[in-house]
Amino acid sequence: MEAIAQERRLATEIPGPRSRAMLERRRAAVPNGLGSSTPIFVEAASGAILRDVDGNQLIDLGAGIAVLNVGNSSVAVTDAIRQQLDRFTHTCMQVTQYEPYVELAERLNALVPGDAPKRTLFVSTGAEAVENAVKISRYHTGRDAVVVFDHAFHGRTLLAMTMTAKAMPYKSGLGPFAPEVYRMPMSYPYRCPTGEAPEECGPRCAAEAIHLMDKQIGADRIACIVIEPIQGEGGFVVPGTGFVPALASFAAANGIVFVADEIQSGLGRTGAVFAIEHEGVVPDLVVTAKSLAGGLPLAAVTGRADVMESVHAGGLGGTFAGNPLACAAGLAVLDQLQREDLPGKARALEGILLPRLRELAGRTALVGDVRGRGAMCAIELVTDRDTKEPAKAATGAVLEECLRQGVVVLKCGTYDNVIRLLPPLTIDAALLREGLDVLEKSLATVAGA
Ligand SMILES: *Cc1c(COP(=O)(O)O)cnc(C)c1O
Repeated sequence: MEAIAQERRLATEIPGPRSRAMLERRRAAVPNGLGSSTPIFVEAASGAILRDVDGNQLIDLGAGIAVLNVGNSSVAVTDAIRQQLDRFTHTCMQVTQYEPYVELAERLNALVPGDAPKRTLFVSTGAEAVENAVKISRYHTGRDAVVVFDHAFHGRTLLAMTMTAKAMPYKSGLGPFAPEVYRMPMSYPYRCPTGEAPEECGPRCAAEAIHLMDKQIGADRIACIVIEPIQGEGGFVVPGTGFVPALASFAAANGIVFVADEIQSGLGRTGAVFAIEHEGVVPDLVVTAKSLAGGLPLAAVTGRADVMESVHAGGLGGTFAGNPLACAAGLAVLDQLQREDLPGKARALEGILLPRLRELAGRTALVGDVRGRGAMCAIELVTDRDTKEPAKAATGAVLEECLRQGVVVLKCGTYDNVIRLLPPLTIDAALLREGLDVLEKSLATVAGA
C-alpha cells in the first residue's frame, strides 16, 4: 500500500474540479438529509493526511469524527483486516462462532475500569450500543426511566435520537420520540445553567440534577443514567469538577445503572484509555464505538457481569453484530493503543493544543473559551465576551477558510460555535502545528473581515 507523504499540498483550489463533479453526481443519487460538512471527495488517506480526487493533500484534524485515533489506514489495522479477509468475512456470531469476537471481548473487559468480572456485547454502531445499554439496564433494574443531559448526543436511531438533546438537525420533524427519556441540566462551566461561577458549576449542577431526578422522576423508577464524560457533538463540554462523581454516587445509592458513553471520548483520545478515568469513577457500563475498530463499523457495551448477564439468551444480538473483520481490526487497534501508548500521545498533543489555543484566545476576542483534555480540545467562538453570544457565522467562515487552505476541521456545539480538534493520535507534532497555524490565520482573517 502506498504511504502518502505527511505533508499538506494544494494542487487545485478546494474543492477542485473532480470533487465538484462528484458532488453533482452525489446530489442526483444521495438524499440531502445526509449532511456533509465539506465538499471534498477522498481518494486515499494515511496517517493524518487525506488526499482528495484532485490531488490536494489535506491535514486531517477530524479523524473521521474521532474514529481514526490510530491514524488513517494504520498498517497494523489494514494487515489484520486482510488476514481475516482471507479466512472468512461473516458467519453470524448467533449461528457459528469465532475467536476474534471472544478475544476482543476479553481485551475490552480487561481495559474498562473496575475490578468486578465483566462481559462485552458487540454490535455495529454507536447508536445501537447505546440502545443495548438501555435495554440491559431496564432488564436488570426492572425500571423504565432513562436519564440523559442537556447538549447530549447519543445517536440517530429512535431511542438514541430521543436521548440526543439538539433538535436541529437531529430531531426536528423526525418524531414522535421514545417514551421515558428525561433530560437533566449538564455542568457546562463556561455557560453554567444555574449561573454559578465555573468552579462551583460541577457541584451545583449535580445537586440540581439529583433534585430533579428525585422529585420529578423518582429515583426508584430510574433504570440508568447515561452520560458522555466529555460531551462530543454537544460542544466538547468538560463538566465541572465533582459533577460526574456526584451523579455516579447517586446512581450507586439508588440501584441505578451508571452508563458512560465513551463513543467519542474513549480509546486513548483524552489521555487516558477512557475519559471517565479522569473522574475517578467506575461506571457500571461503558459504551464504545467510533475508534474501536479503526474505521470498520463496530461498537460495544462492556460492563459488570451481573448487569450484563441479566438478559435471557436471544434477547441481545444482530446479524452483523461483531463482524469478524471488525473484530480483527479492533484487536489490532487495541494492540496499537498499548504498543504506541496512544493515551500518552494524546497527552503530548494536549501539550501542543491547549497552550496554542489559549494563545489564540489572547489574540482574538472571538475566542470565548478554550477547553478539552488530551487530543479532544476545542475553542468556543463568541461575538461578545460579556454576553457570550455564540458566533455561529464566524465559526462556519473559519472552517471554510481552513478547508480552502487544506485543513479539515470540524465544528460542534448546541450553538454551532465550537471548533473541535480531533487529530489522529499518531499525528506528527510538526503537522499538527502547521494545521494550527492555518487555524490561526483563518481566525485572523475572519476576525479582521
Ligand atoms: C457518534 C456518537 C454516537 C453515535 O454513534 P453512531 O456510530 O454514529 O451511531 C453516540 N454517542 C456519542 C458520544 C457519539 O459521539
